[in-house]
Amino acid sequence: MQNPSSTISALLQEHRRFPPSESIASRANARADLYERGREPVGFWAEMARGIDWHTPFTKTLEWNAPWAKWFIGGTLNASVNCVDRHLADGRRTRAAIIWEGEPSVPGNIGGEVRVLTYGDLHREVNRAAHALRDLGIAKGDRVAIYMPMVPEAVIAMLACARIGAPHTVIFGGFAPEAIRDRVNDCGAKAIITADGGYRRGNVVPLYDNVAKAAEGAPTVQKVLVLRRVGEAVRPVTLKAGRDVWWHEALDAAPTSICPPEMVDSEHPLYILYTSGTTGKPKGMLHTTGGYLVGTMATARAVFDLKDDDVYWCTADVGWVTGHSYIVYGPLANGATCLIYEGAPDFPDKDRFWQIVAKHRVSILYTAPTAIRSFMRFGDAFPARHDLSSLRLLGTVGEPINPEAWIWYHEKIGHGRCPIVDTWWQTETGQILITPLPGVTTTKPGSATFPFPGIQADVVDEQGNPVPLGSGGYLVIRHPWPGMARTLWGDDERYRETYWSRFPGIYFTGDGARRDEEGYFWLLGRVDDVLNVAGHRIGTMEVESALVSHPSVAEAAVIGVTHEIKGQALAAFVTPRAGIVADDRLIDTLKRHVATTIGPIARPDQIFITAELPKTRSAKIMRRLLRDIAEGRVLGDTTTLTDPAVVADIRERYAHTEA
Ligand code: ATP
Ligand code: MG
Repeated sequence: MQNPSSTISALLQEHRRFPPSESIASRANARADLYERGREPVGFWAEMARGIDWHTPFTKTLEWNAPWAKWFIGGTLNASVNCVDRHLADGRRTRAAIIWEGEPSVPGNIGGEVRVLTYGDLHREVNRAAHALRDLGIAKGDRVAIYMPMVPEAVIAMLACARIGAPHTVIFGGFAPEAIRDRVNDCGAKAIITADGGYRRGNVVPLYDNVAKAAEGAPTVQKVLVLRRVGEAVRPVTLKAGRDVWWHEALDAAPTSICPPEMVDSEHPLYILYTSGTTGKPKGMLHTTGGYLVGTMATARAVFDLKDDDVYWCTADVGWVTGHSYIVYGPLANGATCLIYEGAPDFPDKDRFWQIVAKHRVSILYTAPTAIRSFMRFGDAFPARHDLSSLRLLGTVGEPINPEAWIWYHEKIGHGRCPIVDTWWQTETGQILITPLPGVTTTKPGSATFPFPGIQADVVDEQGNPVPLGSGGYLVIRHPWPGMARTLWGDDERYRETYWSRFPGIYFTGDGARRDEEGYFWLLGRVDDVLNVAGHRIGTMEVESALVSHPSVAEAAVIGVTHEIKGQALAAFVTPRAGIVADDRLIDTLKRHVATTIGPIARPDQIFITAELPKTRSAKIMRRLLRDIAEGRVLGDTTTLTDPAVVADIRERYAHTEA
């Protein structure tokens, strides 16, 4: 094939485009002139910064000494005041801030237990928790680890830390003791906030026990605050005297007065968060207060088109950056009503998400391609059981979304009515950087469309020169933005080296992208995943999308393996849909399918059928492990893998096929 860009996405872009409907456009928060205003980033972000409450106004918008950025210099503020206190004055005291649903079914209910916290309730609880933390000896600048189930107290704990100026580091509740210990030691946390347990797919996760084990080798930890979530009858725990304190006892002992917020400098650390480990050892990204809040608030408002009557549900866990920026800080800074669900999407049955949407009349749903592909695999009957008419906007994040999955989401969940915002961003970027704006942008399935106003994204070649429209290269960001990470905790040099050395002064995302003739951005996956097969650059993403577009395939991961003649050859790992017979004929069919969809050059040399793909705990496909397997290498860091058995299984099959 001569032209590797005439791919499936190119075909789709010609035929499928979704302009904003008039009814959406007339009501939308964002207007086309936002792009116009965003042409000058510094002025644009200064304007956006007026959306948050400053204790002391900033005197200068940006100080940029690449790669070191400072935003809103001289400004002081408090994040919890912006997310909570100020809404008491703007008429939201009795409006729901959090609608929470627990996982276990409650007899006589639809689904599980529900708790609603108004902004007034949230204010009271954040103040009590902030007092309790201060009483435990936590002060401004001390790091606090949070390892909790998806309950309102996780959000309360984050905001309480922010209130007293103690940076938090949230650790996903699925991590094992060793991973907790690594993170706690890396940032030197003084305290850990956890729970006796948490519900996940009908089981109880022993959160406290994991923390107790982790704390053994964590000398900086002086206090452990323990929430009683599942209770003595379900999971008895014995607290360690002198170190551990029950959450309810600490809060009951706290004064009922307002806990005076620490007004911090705009550049004061708000949190440290470790990346998901898809490409290597997790990195502790440091985010600061003012810029991060401005970036997340402005994007949440424009991208999710938040309105007073919306029920907004972001299905991420607070342990990931999506949970930080788009469950907690961005939506709450906007005074939104956020739904939080404790458990698994397929428990007790595969329609749990749709039951929740119908029960709470969710209007905005933000989830991940991996979840959407699972729902496709479960079958259309599950969403069809429920009334999804409350939905008006759908979002995705985390991985490139295959056009096939996009269309399914649009049709089966959005019933053709809801715009889809495919949002590209990273733990490093803090805020959404590439995304459609509902009401403004014409979308194309599989494309994250355009940079958010004020963001200067580009696609460049090896030398850092912009590539012509229609071709691919490295995704970079040319101008700093307020939500960007400031450094890696304790490792300025690794930060500079990883993100700022490849193209000096320009942020290197590590992702490959292509721009089509109309300038739309198409994410191709990690740079390491963009292959060179006999001189043709092929994004593994496009081959995966071609495979997923076949009716027998639920999910696919494609990697490059060293090939004597071609340089690199393609190997694909494929999970069939339920009920599909996986035999040699299927493998042949799939190879032919890729060859006809993209071109003979993209035809995989090998296809392996596997029941599962290896995923990180944030549910992303870990292609680097498949590469290690295929090339017979020692496996890299596997601490963030969901299920190590999957890798062992694939390894065995792979060895078997090779033999
Ligand atoms: P690590 O950096 O430790 O390898 P990670 O990159 O998976 O882990 P995150 O910061 O959670 O950690 O994920 C950001 C990455 O996810 C992006 O660099 C990109 O590869 C992918 N991504 C996120 N959103 C999208 C999207 N809408 N389209 C395509 N890719 C996306
Ligand atoms: Mg990354």
